[in-house]
Amino acid sequence: MGSAGKRRILWLLPLLALGLWTLRPAAVPADAALPGVPAPQPGARQPERKYIALTFDDGPRRSTTTRLLDGLAERGVKATFFLIGAQVEDNQDVVRRMDEQGHQIGLHTYDHVLLTGLNQADFDAQVKRSRTLLKQVLGHNDFLLRPPYGILDEAVKTRAECPIILWSIDPEDWKYRNARQVAAHITANAQDGSIILLHDIFPESVDAALQVVDELHRQGYLFCTVDELFSLRGIPLRAGETYCSAYP
Ligand SMILES: [Zn+2]
Repeated sequence: MGSAGKRRILWLLPLLALGLWTLRPAAVPADAALPGVPAPQPGARQPERKYIALTFDDGPRRSTTTRLLDGLAERGVKATFFLIGAQVEDNQDVVRRMDEQGHQIGLHTYDHVLLTGLNQADFDAQVKRSRTLLKQVLGHNDFLLRPPYGILDEAVKTRAECPIILWSIDPEDWKYRNARQVAAHITANAQDGSIILLHDIFPESVDAALQVVDELHRQGYLFCTVDELFSLRGIPLRAGETYCSAYP
């Protein structure tokens, strides 16, 4: 190749880079086609998008959480997991997989204890210790908090140092242990902006979650992480504040 040809190629490089940059994926692919979501018929009226967040407490538990991650991956669905620190220790690979699959991760204390009535040292042994452990495992430190039993007071809010996420749909899966009943409760109460509470330590809850994904996909819902749910609504999540839903 002559030097004129080389010069032309060098001149084209910035243009090529600009072209690639404009082709980058958008930060929130709100209208992206998702696996499991039927593509709209040409000319058909687009149904309005509804967004909902699945959240799972008390894990990870290797057997059930792994099956859930498989099922969510097959369906292209992202969820949010509030983890017990003590269970992270022996399941670090499962937690890394969650993170790599794009799920959001939150704290649910180290030993699943009530956070109210603790002194600062005991609070730190539950929340700060879990945060430090997850930071070691994942290399980032942006975790939401869900207090066990959803019980909190002003001291918990002050010490949280991150947003506190509760829920708007509780099918009491831990009590009923019945996939069909739990899934029916969720689909009957689902709304645009709901946050669903489940526990990925029960096989029935994993079954219920996957049934819910399939049914709500048919109804036009898209599943997203808690951060995405609020970001799509333009609601900023602030440290020490409590959030139960992101209703429009
Ligand atoms: Zn819990």
